[in-house]
Amino acid sequence: MKLVSYVFEGEVRVGRLNAAGTAVQTFSGEAGGNMLSLIRLFEQVKNRDEDPLDWVELDRVQLLAPIPRPARNILCVGKNYHQHAVEFQASGFDASASENTPAFPVIFTKAPSTVIGPEAAIPAYLDYSESTDYEGELAVVIGRGGRNIAKEDALSHVFGYTIVNDVTARTLQQSHRQWYLGKSLDGYCPMGPAIVTADDIPSPERLQLKTWVNGELRQDAGVADLIFDIPTLIVTLSRTMSLESGDIIATGTCAGVGIGFTPPKFLRHGDRVDIEIQPIGKLSNPVIALRD
Ligand code: MG
Repeated sequence: MKLVSYVFEGEVRVGRLNAAGTAVQTFSGEAGGNMLSLIRLFEQVKNRDEDPLDWVELDRVQLLAPIPRPARNILCVGKNYHQHAVEFQASGFDASASENTPAFPVIFTKAPSTVIGPEAAIPAYLDYSESTDYEGELAVVIGRGGRNIAKEDALSHVFGYTIVNDVTARTLQQSHRQWYLGKSLDGYCPMGPAIVTADDIPSPERLQLKTWVNGELRQDAGVADLIFDIPTLIVTLSRTMSLESGDIIATGTCAGVGIGFTPPKFLRHGDRVDIEIQPIGKLSNPVIALRD
C-alpha cells in the first residue's frame, strides 16, 4: 500500500493512493490523525472499508512529506556505498576518518525541522557557505519499535520505505567536523512522495536509486550495493538505543553527488532535484538560493 500525507481543503490528512496513483482515500478516526498514528494503528485499519466518497483526485491535494514532522531526529548513515565513500574521501570535504570503507556504520542525525515535502523549495539561501549538495537515499520507516533487534527479525520491524534527499551544506559539514550542523539546516530533508508498506517491497535490496539535477542523471545505483544492509543498520542502532515506531533511517547515498565532480557541482538557484526509487515514486524539489 502506498501512503501519503497531504492537505485537502485546508486540512492535513493521511491516506492511501489508488493503484494508478491518481487519487487518494483518507483514513478516518484516530488512525487518520497523522502518519505516526496510522503507522501505530495500521494493522487494525489496513483492511477497513473507508467511505468510498472519501476518494479525492490527487491533483486537488497538496502532498506533504509522508511524516511531515518526525517525533525524533532522522537517523542517517554516512559513507554506506563504496563508490560514494571513495568520491567523498577524494573530494577533500570528508572531515571524518580517512578510510574509504568504514569498518562500522557511520551514524549521524538530522533535526526533525529539516523535513519538507515534495515540490517544496530547498532553501539553499540559508547556507551562507554556498556549498549545498544533494544526496538521494532510500529511507526505512520503523513500524514496531524494539531494542537489541536480531538480524533475522530486523525486516519485520520495518513499516515501509520512502525517499529522502539528505541535503548537505558541504563546507559546514567539513568545517565543524561533526556533520549535524551542515546536515540540519531548515528544510534540508525533502521526503516523499509516499511510504510504500514493507509487504509491497519484500526485497529492498532489489530497489534502484536514481537522482537527476535539471534532468541530468547524476546518481544511479542498486540498494544491493549498500556496505551495511538494512538489517545490519537496524541491529546496529537498536543495540544502543530503542527504535520507536515512526523512526526514519536514511540508509546513505551512492556515488554521483555534487562534490564528486571537479570542480564540485553545488546546487544553484532554480535547479531541480529529482530522486526516483520505484515503486515509491519520484521526489522532486526546486532549489531557491537567492537571499533577500
Ligand atoms: Mg547522506
